[in-house]
Amino acid sequence: MGIKMDKVRCDGKELKITEYDTNKTYGCLKCYYCNADVSFVNSYEKNLGERKIIVQRYFRLKSGQEHEKGCRYTVDGAVSNIYAACADNELMSKQDNKYVVRLMLSSEETDSQKSSTFFEKSGHGKRQHNYIPSGKKIAYLSTMNQIMKLRAIVEDNSDLEDKINLQYRDWKDMPYVVPWKNFYFDSEKDGEYNRLLKYLTNEKVYHPICIVGFVKSVSEYQEQKFCLKYESVSEEKNKRIVVEIYFTNKNIYDNLLEKQHCKVVVYTKFKFHRKNEWTAPDGKKFTYYNITGNVYDIRQVLFL
Ligand SMILES: [Zn+2]
Repeated sequence: MGIKMDKVRCDGKELKITEYDTNKTYGCLKCYYCNADVSFVNSYEKNLGERKIIVQRYFRLKSGQEHEKGCRYTVDGAVSNIYAACADNELMSKQDNKYVVRLMLSSEETDSQKSSTFFEKSGHGKRQHNYIPSGKKIAYLSTMNQIMKLRAIVEDNSDLEDKINLQYRDWKDMPYVVPWKNFYFDSEKDGEYNRLLKYLTNEKVYHPICIVGFVKSVSEYQEQKFCLKYESVSEEKNKRIVVEIYFTNKNIYDNLLEKQHCKVVVYTKFKFHRKNEWTAPDGKKFTYYNITGNVYDIRQVLFL
């Protein structure tokens, strides 16, 4: 567990993950920055349902090994760097050796975009204390982006859950902890999208979450209205889960166009939108479950 490394030292020399030859026998692999023992984890193909993806190779700590204090690959170091750069206790604070990150929503209100029926209206009756305070949008989303990045490079939620508490507030403004497993869902991991769908359909989910997936398409489906569609994920026979992100920000659209087919993480509030049946030309029937979310700022999207 820990940070997935992309370079190591082998016989005193740098060995990049891209250079690692699986047909070759290597001597001891060491962390690039400290003396911890490291091993190679190979890439593999995973079938999402409609598309096959490659789960990338990386170097990991050997079990029982730990990075030396101060090593650039320690999770502690990475978290404290994010905290130092944030410097705002309202967004991220430290309590008894654990960091607390407030989960906050980005809203249309802080944007100058037009609203539409598909887009969530913020303001009236909403829990204002859960929205990013005006003037702090860039700072907050930059911090969140760093946290998304860190989560993406560690192996598992367990790498962060004893270090970062994710906090959201209920309607009485009382803080509660959102478990990492209810916050971060990755299509590369078996069963995650099914779990995500269950979570969004069985419970009322108010807090924002992160969904990782692969871009299938980016389109302007109406003038100045855009949609980013993820590759669907099929974890059960004939059942396909599709994530769709809606936005009106042309800047986000231009950014996404350059990143077709790449892997993304989106941070926002998601909901289960609808279920519909579809019959393929060969007569096979599928049930699609659509999960939707809106983004208002490019910092809510992280390209991996
Ligand atoms: Zn190290």
